[in-house]
Amino acid sequence: MKTKLGLLYGGKSAEHQVSLQTAMAVIKALDVNKFDIYPIYITVEGQWLKGPQLQGPVNSVKELAFSSDQEEGALAPAIFSGKTGNGGMDVIFPLLHGPNGEDGTVQGLLELLNLPYVGNGVLASSAGMDKVIMKNIFAEAGLAQVDYTSFIRSEWEADKEGAYEKVEKQLGYPCFVKPANLGSSVGISKCRNREELEQAFKEAFLFDRKVIIEVGVKAREIEVGVLGNDAPEVSVAGEIVPKKDFYDYKAKYEDGNTALIIPADIDKETYTRIHDMAIKAFKALDCAGLVRADFFLTENGTVLINEINTMPGFTPFSMFPLLWKHTGVEYPELIEKLVNLALERHTEKQ
Ligand code: ADP
Ligand code: MG
Ligand code: MG
Repeated sequence: MKTKLGLLYGGKSAEHQVSLQTAMAVIKALDVNKFDIYPIYITVEGQWLKGPQLQGPVNSVKELAFSSDQEEGALAPAIFSGKTGNGGMDVIFPLLHGPNGEDGTVQGLLELLNLPYVGNGVLASSAGMDKVIMKNIFAEAGLAQVDYTSFIRSEWEADKEGAYEKVEKQLGYPCFVKPANLGSSVGISKCRNREELEQAFKEAFLFDRKVIIEVGVKAREIEVGVLGNDAPEVSVAGEIVPKKDFYDYKAKYEDGNTALIIPADIDKETYTRIHDMAIKAFKALDCAGLVRADFFLTENGTVLINEINTMPGFTPFSMFPLLWKHTGVEYPELIEKLVNLALERHTEKQ
């Protein structure tokens, strides 16, 4: 029997277009002899629309971005209605990034509906989205990372001078100021002095009520993919080489010329350390399915964990699928593995 797979894509987020590209690539890679594919599109306005079953690959993202005139809209839960195997879906693959997609909210909805879904659960997704919570958990697990501090908006507004002084005393320059709950480098600034620090706080607070400030390190950026549930496996390592000062939003999505080097040129010992830290981070946050774990490798060879991403970029040209390709798992196989992991996890929870 074929698996009825609901692809959830689009979304009320800065990564809407990326999500459409990902959906198109995933559809192309899916074997129609194994899967019945149903598109579920979340518009930029946040409306949920379910399209008819797809018969094969689509030729452009326009076909996936249908409008409510073409398709019947419904409240989110109603879209999934119908019993599994009887008009409903067997498993959902959320291809969404950032808030309202990668942060546990959609995962919570799917839990309530008792539907298996690809990737991390509510806890790992929400803890992974908040850089302060994530780093607190990493610290508790004994993972090496940069020193950091954080402020909520009201604390900063009550005593801005005090906030800047604390940062200068504890962390010094350069430091990085980031909104706690975003991704894709949005709202992140590198600061070299007080003036830049003040500007960076203002900027970051435009995006979130909480900011994190970290010591800025001079380091190579090494990433690995983790795949699995209770016994996760780690891919080969890759390195991102930003052509700019740091891996900012433009470098990620607009320039397209940031070099990805796979496998990364690192020694065996360093890889082993990264491998073990990735597993430890995966377990510390109780992850499931997949994560991309990102590290800093400093000039003196110290490995620090930067972050994990619970729904990493997933086009065939993104780091996570490329890491697995180099590890011997091609894109179509990777998708099938993720679907199987979702079904396995759902069964184990029952
Ligand atoms: P996002 O979740 O938006 O990807 P990151 O924390 O990974 O946020 O930061 C984005 C980029 O900024 C990193 O890939 C790196 O290039 C740079 N960066 C972030 N934090 C630091 C730091 N503490 N020291 C040096 N570079 C950093
Ligand atoms: Mg991130
Ligand atoms: Mg990052």
